[in-house]
Amino acid sequence: MKIGFIGTGTMGQPMLANLVKKGFAVIAFDVVPAALDAAANLGAVRAGSVGEVAALCEIVITMLPSSANAEAVYLGSGGIAECAAQGRLCVDMSTVDPGTSQRVAARLKERGLRFLDAPVSGGVGGATSGTLAIMVGGDAGDLAEARPVLATMGTNIIHVGAVGAGEVAKLCNNLISGSALVAVAEAFRIGEAFGVDPQILTSVIAKSSGATWVMEHMHPVPGIVDSAASSRQYAPGFMTDLMAKDLGLAVSAARDKRVPVVVSPAAQQLYRMASSHGLGREDFSAVYKFLKPSSDDAPV
Ligand code: NAD
Repeated sequence: MKIGFIGTGTMGQPMLANLVKKGFAVIAFDVVPAALDAAANLGAVRAGSVGEVAALCEIVITMLPSSANAEAVYLGSGGIAECAAQGRLCVDMSTVDPGTSQRVAARLKERGLRFLDAPVSGGVGGATSGTLAIMVGGDAGDLAEARPVLATMGTNIIHVGAVGAGEVAKLCNNLISGSALVAVAEAFRIGEAFGVDPQILTSVIAKSSGATWVMEHMHPVPGIVDSAASSRQYAPGFMTDLMAKDLGLAVSAARDKRVPVVVSPAAQQLYRMASSHGLGREDFSAVYKFLKPSSDDAPV
């Protein structure tokens, strides 16, 4: 079976590598030549356009940065809707807003195409080891067809509900992880300011009610968790700009449904400010660098 893969960036490359390792023939496309070269080096066949991938493949996977990119790739001129043959199955694994998934799915359906939203959690580590959590929205029969393909990339494949529901689950998850990371960074800045050893503070919190997955795996203070991005100059990992995007999606989803949200909009603004101060392409845990205390003589 030929699998199309569009968007071979940070996550796309290790995901595609697992598809190739499990024996799938993969045809890839990315607008950035270096990303497409990387896909070819991993064993994919290069395509020259989105339309070429769509025309050649039984299942088309997309792993793109944003809702606008997904909309363009699916519905734009020369896009998947225009070029894929009737009945083909498309799986968007990007994190986008649920409304975009629903709009894309409806337009594809008019053209006889099928669509699943299947965003992921687990980061580059999970993508590399093939252990991503994959949250799926769409028809159960379509998921059954895609499952052997998704199983090469993830170990927890969960059917959340109708189209868009996978994205809702993803936004809820990142609302929690993005907000929690800010809380961890704030706590460690306070600890440091009082001269508390961050290693000891980590041991205390790990055994207390503040223990959280992001502290255990994505600790924002360098040198505490070897595998964390902070211990390698905040190389992503998951970029600050992507976390700002995801929290923005969560906040607008909340606004659409008139759910009051207080913590996540504040966290989102912090990531945006960190981005405007040059940290956008660093891992989101770099927000810690942005939370430096002001000078000793500043009025309290
Ligand atoms: P990335 O920017 O590294 O990769 C995206 C790729 O899509 C890029 O190579 C880009 O050139 C390509 N692209 C953009 N527009 C295109 C188009 N029109 N046609 C073809 N290719 C196009 O981003 P990433 O970190 O791989 O993230 C991808 C998605 O996965 C995002 O939605 C992100 O929120 C989500 N995600 C990322 C992580 C992570 O840890 N990086 C974890 C979970 C989910």
